[in-house]
Amino acid sequence: MVKKRELLYEGKAKKLFATDEEGHLWVQYLDQATALNGARKDEVLGKAELNNQITSSIFEKLAVKGIESHFIRQLSNDEQLVEQVDIIPLEVVVRNYATGSFSKRLAVEEGKLLDFPVLEFYYKEDALDDPIINDDHVKILGIANDEEIAVLKAAARKINEVLITLFDEIGIRLIDFKIEFGRSADGSILLADEISPDTCRLWDKETNEHLDKDVYRKDLGDIVPVYQEVFSRLKNK
Ligand code: ADP
Ligand code: UDP
Repeated sequence: MVKKRELLYEGKAKKLFATDEEGHLWVQYLDQATALNGARKDEVLGKAELNNQITSSIFEKLAVKGIESHFIRQLSNDEQLVEQVDIIPLEVVVRNYATGSFSKRLAVEEGKLLDFPVLEFYYKEDALDDPIINDDHVKILGIANDEEIAVLKAAARKINEVLITLFDEIGIRLIDFKIEFGRSADGSILLADEISPDTCRLWDKETNEHLDKDVYRKDLGDIVPVYQEVFSRLKNK
């Protein structure tokens, strides 16, 4: 049985602990929601379990489709064991429909289906407010080289295809999402962090109802029943 050791990092949504197993991390999801880079923060009882279970379920389904991730196994309702990686400081965003910062920045109609999935890199640097950057910026900052950028892009596009189908089967349109990658001990690039309603925009196919963190961002109500709805649809698939 793996043992939890010292706290390594406390983030806005998760705590990471060392373990007695070399290269494995213990992830504790938190009953906490934040927006505006942490400026707004609320306790949300039940969120930790839901995001841990949703992320676990999605990483398991991706693995079946040949997409490996850091996920090893669930340890409890709100904890999981993952492979430790060196996080590449990029938020890789894939957009199928226009909304959020994309619509605002480029004046594209909210909810417009994009002709092809649009991929963006944001530099994961809180002090700079995670600015959008291009491939040259990624290279000049030493974040990743050409070959790695190609790997990240291909993986993000494949993950998008698998997730579109997965969510479509449970009556959800995948609008956009953010993923993170890391370098594992053997040097390969591995999908890491989480995939949950905190990191995806999920709209009900019939009603266009938001089934994601926008409910919190836009103050539309309680997110727990919304995340519960996503989890129960995934579970029953
Ligand atoms: P934030 O750091 O934005 O507040 P979280 O609360 O989700 O976000 O914190 C989790 C942190 O752990 C993130 O910074 C993420 O990049 C990092 N992380 C995710 N998976 C791994 C992993 N397998 N190994 C090392 N770090 C990871
Ligand atoms: N996203 C995320 N973390 C971030 C920023 C964005 O998970 O720090 C996700 C967000 O949930 C959405 C996608 O990335 O699914 C694109 O977000 P956008 O840039 O439109 O974010 P906004 O600034 O509108 O919140």
